Amino acid sequence: MYIIQAASELAPVAKVGGLGDVIHGLSKELVKQGHQVEIILPKYDCLLFEKLEQLKVVQRELCTFEGTNRYHNTIWSAEVDGLKVILIEPHHPSYYFNRERIYGCPDDVDRFAYFSRALLEYLKISNRHPDVLHIHDWPTALIAPLYRELFQPIGLRVKKMVLTLHNLEYQGKCDPVLLTRSGLNAEKLMHADLMRDLLTPSLANLLKGGIVLADALTTVSPHYEQQIKTAEGGFGLNEILLKHEKKLTGILNGIEDTFWNPEKDPHLIARYPAFPPFDEASWKKVLEGKRENRRHLRRHLGLNESNAPIVSSVTRLVPQKGPKLIKHALLKTLDEGGQFILLGSLAPLDIEKDFLELKENLAKNKNVAICMHHDESLAHLIFAGADMFLIPSIFEPCGLTQLIALRYGTVPLARKTGGLADTVFDIDTSELPEAERTGFTFDFPDNPGVNWVLDRSLKCWTQDQTKWQRLMQQGMKRDFSWKESVHRYLSIYSAQ
Ligand code: ADP
Repeated sequence: MYIIQAASELAPVAKVGGLGDVIHGLSKELVKQGHQVEIILPKYDCLLFEKLEQLKVVQRELCTFEGTNRYHNTIWSAEVDGLKVILIEPHHPSYYFNRERIYGCPDDVDRFAYFSRALLEYLKISNRHPDVLHIHDWPTALIAPLYRELFQPIGLRVKKMVLTLHNLEYQGKCDPVLLTRSGLNAEKLMHADLMRDLLTPSLANLLKGGIVLADALTTVSPHYEQQIKTAEGGFGLNEILLKHEKKLTGILNGIEDTFWNPEKDPHLIARYPAFPPFDEASWKKVLEGKRENRRHLRRHLGLNESNAPIVSSVTRLVPQKGPKLIKHALLKTLDEGGQFILLGSLAPLDIEKDFLELKENLAKNKNVAICMHHDESLAHLIFAGADMFLIPSIFEPCGLTQLIALRYGTVPLARKTGGLADTVFDIDTSELPEAERTGFTFDFPDNPGVNWVLDRSLKCWTQDQTKWQRLMQQGMKRDFSWKESVHRYLSIYSAQ
């Protein structure tokens, strides 16, 4: 099958969060199973160019339109970790992708609408007719209406248009003028059943356009599939999702087997076995490897050499991730004699200010490290060196960090919502047999919930290492590779 992934992120060259990991992992597994995959991205100036191989120009002058203006684009090709990538570089007076960042500009909708149209122009001009055009979240959702209204009528052939909903909080709401500027008939599309936003009817909703006009919809976990069809979890799109529920499927994300693998991870100071069976000798290597990484982590962050457990969090520090609960857990962990490491990125100003103040107040405390930036290498080291990994999300479509933590033998403490509920099973309360339980969960996103998981996990770690290590092993035995999920994607790609 010939599959094109139209995306705004790709790990490791353009990663903000889980979307980048998913495009990378899903594509790698599709290629492994014999399919032809191309990933099309904007040529951001902040790409990690050292990870792009064979970068070259394939087309100097691709023409596209924005309103009545015509702009040129240069098309590049490259390889990322063996994957074929096409990069679109606009020559536009607004320097759309030369902003030293991927998202977070006031004109984000204009930037990605421009990219969506240029991508379809490129498919048409280069005579590419994929079996599947897979679009992801609001940044590439406009491709569905553009294809139906403009490009299919002039002969572009896409057998199946699939939209994956990675996070419904972000929808690309905008003035309908953007539709006109993209070449669409705004009057026709600003209908309640099409692209009109249902909460703010004066606005167009790019994600909704994708939901209505894609052939198939997927989201990233079975629990999240159910939640987005409710008023509580649907961010105003629940009704339209219910209307289109026949084409919606929840497929759990995986994690890539080489990028996230303590056996091969180049960011670790000591590598250790990741996959079962764990006999006595290999389990000893796991414990030694983790100990070595923990020692290095403490030294690197200036923490006390100590026998205390390390509780950790690696996250975008946005409201979705429960920053108040993270702060509460940090203070409680210190009170209980543990150590806490937080690596948080992309915090809105008020949250950032709060955590910087906390960092200042705790500057002399050698049992806590608060790092407020994105750091791929440090993230890997934390997954390997920590004992526990906290994810107190208010909502969580799938969540990858709990899967990574499980693979690295770090026990997750997670709120039972979305994909977290599909992947972390409480040691005391899960309905699964004891041998299949993997962590500690809590139901309500409040301080008592956090206290409950922290109290139980710290007690288990301190008083019963045999039970603790059994829990680590049960987590490491879980298979979160992409293999199974890719079968499910393939059946959606090929369904008539
Ligand atoms: P989301 O996509 O909502 O941010 P996920 O759990 O799906 O959350 O994926 C998060 C990904 O981003 C993981 O690979 C995680 O390691 C990474 N990540 C999150 N915050 C940071 C950070 N501050 N530094 C490095 N990596 C981070």
